Amino acid sequence: MAGGERKLHLGRVLVVDDDPAMRRTCGRVLALEGWGVVEADSGGAALETIATAKAMFDCVLSDVNMPGLDGFALVAKVREIDDDIPVLLMTGDPSLDGAVKAIESGAVSYITKPFASEALAAAVARAARRHGVARMRRRADSYARALGGADAADRVDLERRFANALERLWMAFQPIVDVATGRVFAYEALVRTDEDSLRRPDLLIATAERLDRIHQLGRTIRAAVARAAADAPDGVELFVNVHGLELGDEELYEPNAALSRLAPRVVLEITERVGLDPAIGTARVGMLRKLGYRIAVDDLGAGYAALGALAHLEPEIVKLDMSLVRDLDRSATKRRVVAAIATLCRELGGRVVAEGVETPGERDACIGAGVELLQGYLFARPARGFPSVTS
Ligand code: C2E
Ligand code: MG
Ligand code: MG
Repeated sequence: MAGGERKLHLGRVLVVDDDPAMRRTCGRVLALEGWGVVEADSGGAALETIATAKAMFDCVLSDVNMPGLDGFALVAKVREIDDDIPVLLMTGDPSLDGAVKAIESGAVSYITKPFASEALAAAVARAARRHGVARMRRRADSYARALGGADAADRVDLERRFANALERLWMAFQPIVDVATGRVFAYEALVRTDEDSLRRPDLLIATAERLDRIHQLGRTIRAAVARAAADAPDGVELFVNVHGLELGDEELYEPNAALSRLAPRVVLEITERVGLDPAIGTARVGMLRKLGYRIAVDDLGAGYAALGALAHLEPEIVKLDMSLVRDLDRSATKRRVVAAIATLCRELGGRVVAEGVETPGERDACIGAGVELLQGYLFARPARGFPSVTS
């Protein structure tokens, strides 16, 4: 059974769960955020909905434990129809070692029940952004068409909020600590805006995608980082996130652009999916290196075919996704995965950063697994200026 679609705004999500209460709760949370939600009560119904849908889904959010096709089997079937659509699995069983199994099955990511509404919304926004460049283009095109029609008023409103967000944009910085020296090795720049409706970066970025303004957002961010860099402590590097579509912006390669002038102290973070489009990824990354930038693969372990990015991009830095870091001290499987990745990166001549370190236990487990560059709330939250380290 597929329910009627509610309000369309950020994109479309298919919610799959045999438990009607859970399905409705997730649907409500996502609809409030501005996603168009379609519900399916089984894996089979979900497949039929995807196969017959007129417009593409930006994310499939599915329960793992369902009679008939379970979540893992659903991912495999979805991959036969569409090898790009992000699937986010919900599991109520942390002992499943969800991370490893979900990722092996071809899911983009997973979320452990019970979760807060905020966490669900952020995970869906994040998953929806995690797809190939070709799909992102198709998605931008299909929005542009949709927005040209009946939703004109909606578009005007979004445009107004987005313009305000750019005007009131600023960069937060979060330290990356080298535990061997106890010093700040680098700061990651994270976008923020004082436009109320777009305070969360995932919403801001999803809106830019929807309006086809990723280049404009990227330029504004790069200029803001370059301005802020004047106050950065000497000798620390700056990590700057680059959206997959930003790699198509000529301004990024302008030797005289504000950030290009700082390239030797800048590491550009690229999420792994970009590396899977070798035609774009490898050539563009070569151009960035010529300018003096170094490259980090962001969120390794959050998506599928992640290791492919290491081969294509040969990054100087690899950032482990926080889903691998969370409860590292309590999962021997995760520790094995992290230690294997750390060894591989060292052998390839790169360094590893663990993101999202929140507890001393996670910190010590990272160090034990051979990861020496750490980032997370344990050390400092992202903030204006260049926050010092507290732990
Ligand atoms: P990311 O690049 O993986 O950034 C790390 C995210 O983890 C940030 O979320 C950061 O605030 C959060 N974080 C850091 N330490 C901890 C921790 O200990 N616990 C938890 N729970 N979270 C932690 P934020 O700032 O909300 O950004 C979310 C995502 O939005 C980023 O993920 C990145 O993909 C994107 N983003 C943020 N700023 C930019 C930007 O300037 N440009 C682009 N293209 N993307 C950006
Ligand atoms: Mg990042
Ligand atoms: Mg990351």
